[in-house]
Amino acid sequence: MRIILLGPPGSGKGTQAQRLVQRYGIVQLSTGEMLRAAVAAGTPVGLKAKEIMARGGLVPDDVVVGIISDRIDQPDARNGFILDGFPRTVPQAEALDELLKHKHLKLDAVIELRVNESALLNRVETRVAQMRERGEEVRVDDTPEVLTKRLASYRSLTEPLIHYYSERRKLSTIDGMMAIDEVTRAIHRQLLALGAVEPKGHARSSVTAAAGKKAVTKAKAAKKPAKTAKKPAKATKKPAKKAVKATRKTAKKAAKKAAKKAVKKGVKKAAKKVTKRRAKR
Ligand code: AMP
Repeated sequence: MRIILLGPPGSGKGTQAQRLVQRYGIVQLSTGEMLRAAVAAGTPVGLKAKEIMARGGLVPDDVVVGIISDRIDQPDARNGFILDGFPRTVPQAEALDELLKHKHLKLDAVIELRVNESALLNRVETRVAQMRERGEEVRVDDTPEVLTKRLASYRSLTEPLIHYYSERRKLSTIDGMMAIDEVTRAIHRQLLALGAVEPKGHARSSVTAAAGKKAVTKAKAAKKPAKTAKKPAKATKKPAKKAVKATRKTAKKAAKKAAKKAVKKGVKKAAKKVTKRRAKR
């Protein structure tokens, strides 16, 4: 499974990515984490990125695209991956499309965590306080001033990706203001509806898989622009149920028809026998 987590800083992408890693045994590819590691190690990439990151700017596309391309080739990413913090601009998304095409890999879904911006500053402040409590080093870009800049950059450069992936029918929007567990469940439901994961302990039958896919297609066709969708995860759930019901109904009808036919056939045969016997007499 290959997915992208999209959302502004503080939307919970990191937390949800960790849960997806545990649940599905895939790897989290966070460009922010990789760049921070490069800065800490003092590599040439790190030296290039250090200043830009400290002021909340964006590291050049060729640098991040190169990092991601190399990382996807690692054996542990073969099972699947979650891209967190990448792509961040439309040119990066285009580069990713090319890169995946070249590697013969398919993107399953783009999950957008939609949050209320006014809550973000609070969330980041809480994250900083918790990191301090654990004695961890606090990120230099986790200050109200830099966060404001990162948010502005998200709005102008990253938000256009919502339209980009929506047009390509890849986007699923989840209400990121729900409790952490609720968000995790909503993401799981969405991945199930998309057929990106299999229900736990159940082998997917071709009927339910087809029904699920049909439902997703229906839901997507009926989907309103992302802005009005409050809980899109649920929006795909209902049609999924409907489709399964419809499949069962069709199967029942077919069975009834077959039974009727069989009865008719039986009656006809019996009538023929009687006619034959009468003719003999
Ligand atoms: P994050 O941990 O995703 O918030 O990223 C921290 C910082 O790393 C960002 O503010 C950028 O400076 C840099 N960065 C991370 N990902 C990218 C990317 N895809 N493109 C450009 N810069 C990035």
